[in-house]
Amino acid sequence: MLRPGSKDGTAFGFRFDQKRSELSERADDVNSLLPPSRQAPSRSGDTLPVASYRHQILYLVEHHPTLILLGETGSGKTTQVPQYLLEAGWAARGYMIACTQPRRAAAASVAARVAEELGSTLGNDVGYSVRFDSCETKGATRLKYLTDGVLIREMMEDPLLTKYSVIMVDEAHERSLATDMLLGLLKKVQGRRPDLRLVISSATLQAEVLSSFFMPNAQKNGQANIHKGSVGPHVQPGCLGLPSNQNPAILSIEGRTYPVEIHYLTEPTSDYLQAAVTTVVDIHKADLPGDVLVFLTGQEECVGAVKLLDIEAEKLSRSSGYGLKMLPLPLYAGLPVQEQRMALAPAPRGHRKVTLSTNIAETSLTLEGVVYVVDCCFVKQRCYNPLLGLESLLIAPTSKASATQRAGRAGRVRPGMCFRLTTREAFEREQPVVTVPEMQRSDLTAMVLQLKALGIDNIMRFEWLAPPPAETMVRALENLHALGVLDDDAKLTKQVGLPLAELPLEPQLGRILLASSSCGEEAVTVAALKCVPHLWTASRGAHKAQDEARFKFAAAEGDLITSLNVWRAWLERGKDPKWCYRHFLNHSSLLKASEIQQQLVGYMKRIGLPLTSCSGDMDVVRKAIVQGMFVNAACFDRVDYNPLSSDSDPGINVYRLVRPLPLGHHGVRLRIHNSSVLFRSRPPCVVFASVQQTDDGWFEMQGVTAVLPEWLTEVAPHMYGRK
Ligand code: ADP
Ligand code: MG
Repeated sequence: MLRPGSKDGTAFGFRFDQKRSELSERADDVNSLLPPSRQAPSRSGDTLPVASYRHQILYLVEHHPTLILLGETGSGKTTQVPQYLLEAGWAARGYMIACTQPRRAAAASVAARVAEELGSTLGNDVGYSVRFDSCETKGATRLKYLTDGVLIREMMEDPLLTKYSVIMVDEAHERSLATDMLLGLLKKVQGRRPDLRLVISSATLQAEVLSSFFMPNAQKNGQANIHKGSVGPHVQPGCLGLPSNQNPAILSIEGRTYPVEIHYLTEPTSDYLQAAVTTVVDIHKADLPGDVLVFLTGQEECVGAVKLLDIEAEKLSRSSGYGLKMLPLPLYAGLPVQEQRMALAPAPRGHRKVTLSTNIAETSLTLEGVVYVVDCCFVKQRCYNPLLGLESLLIAPTSKASATQRAGRAGRVRPGMCFRLTTREAFEREQPVVTVPEMQRSDLTAMVLQLKALGIDNIMRFEWLAPPPAETMVRALENLHALGVLDDDAKLTKQVGLPLAELPLEPQLGRILLASSSCGEEAVTVAALKCVPHLWTASRGAHKAQDEARFKFAAAEGDLITSLNVWRAWLERGKDPKWCYRHFLNHSSLLKASEIQQQLVGYMKRIGLPLTSCSGDMDVVRKAIVQGMFVNAACFDRVDYNPLSSDSDPGINVYRLVRPLPLGHHGVRLRIHNSSVLFRSRPPCVVFASVQQTDDGWFEMQGVTAVLPEWLTEVAPHMYGRK
């Protein structure tokens, strides 16, 4: 066991380059180190750093159209500032306060927390709204947490967002696609609604970019008002009066943070998951107080690591001597609310909580009591190649700015430690300084559709916080044109464009619904099932059993039709959770899908689309799928030698995109992802819902449907001609 003060770092299965510091020597009872908020839930958050800025914040909101609020994660921006606004009367006379979040999970959980602090029931004074799920009461809800995407959708009905007096755009540093788009739109709204106040909060220093963006165009050379100390006496806001100063104000909240010691590996590792597990066990064996937070890249990894740590915890509990019991818990966006609460709640007495989280814990959710951070230094990121027209998820190195944020999570309670699972040299060499905004690495088809629906016709002249690449915009316009959404003048078409913009779905999926005149019932189910991630449970170590379970439902037509089979079987079994468990199906995902399905049925009725069933004729459903996904069509090309080949698995079936590609891009290689039911078969022609990129340059197709090539020419002669 590594003892405090040990000179030898080799007690760690993975060697880290620095010796433990003297801080390790204080093995106090962790509970005495915790802030009062963790010992008993504090109602008011009065002890949070933001509390001493309350008057300044209210003063600046009243006197400036835009306030840029900077402050460390955990200082109280998200939970407290909207409450200050509420108490100061910004939600009087029927107005509301909005606080946007880039993540659905954060919106719901923060709203619950704030309702609790205010002693009210969620859905009354405080509510939330995320796609397909909202909890609010018309007329009663005065503070609403919602995703940026939902606020953008609200603009379709109320372009000036007239019911809101203040809109707080939270977590702006994340630079998510929807946040950037919302900021551009809000700037336009402000031009028409000088009474609207914006609060833009950010955990990192992006103040200059943001303040120059919100500077009135006429005064672009002006100076933002930067406030560090006190401002004039606080005046009760004359709610919805006009601001006296047109420039944005910047306020920086000084947080209370402790130093965090950073450690790097001395040798690189090829398996960061195992390295993370070993590091956690070593931290635990060192028997020092404090919780551990591990950053991994996705749900599967988090669940997998919890399983591995459960085994370790079991072993450790049998060998006596360790004061605290290890309690591994996962935390990711799709986690059911109850489990998310467990991950956020303080560890039960005598336990050390080890939270295995995606980057949702980087800034969106605050975990109290963390003293150790283990950072895999990777993140799952969208990336888009406009020339290929393929957006994929890629596990990429995090930026240095992210790594700093992650490390900071260890210094909230006392001095902490952060273990980066990479070498110092690799970190310096490979991690970019900041993360590229999502706007510059995403497929913008859905966004352009929304801008068009909001009446922004000249999207090239839209004011962007960071302009997207021109090729990406062109590709988005081409896609929309091919889908029949835009006419030759780039205006929304009546038959497809206008109804598609109403559907809360990606254009591809929405298009399937519009094409489903004789299979509406199946189409809404396919779309609803596509909207819930992880229909199948992650089951590290039980792949064979899982494959067999999946095989029972497998349809030769592909994954989307297979999901329909699952759906039908689930209904036949009376939505039995035990049946789901036996078949490796995610019961909560299926329940969610059934809620979404009901909502989509509502949309279909509103738009006037029939909800007939195809009565088992799956060709009808597949043809509707082709109408939405024809852009992503691939055909079988050849078998490549597989270095790991065996008799049962002779080689890799290589596919290529059917649509014409620019010169020099014909080498792009696709294959069917091993999670697809078509993985072992070799359909000549398929369409796919998404791709994932591998380290060695493959694009792996997911959500695959086998189709006939002639359907492509039938549906999209403009793209596929007569071949
Ligand atoms: P910021 O937005 O500045 O990062 P927050 O307002 O999210 O800060 O958090 C302030 C405090 O409230 C933190 O100490 C955090 O522990 C606590 N808190 C926030 N949300 C929750 C929650 N869902 N459950 C328990 N505590 C929470
Ligand atoms: Mg926050």
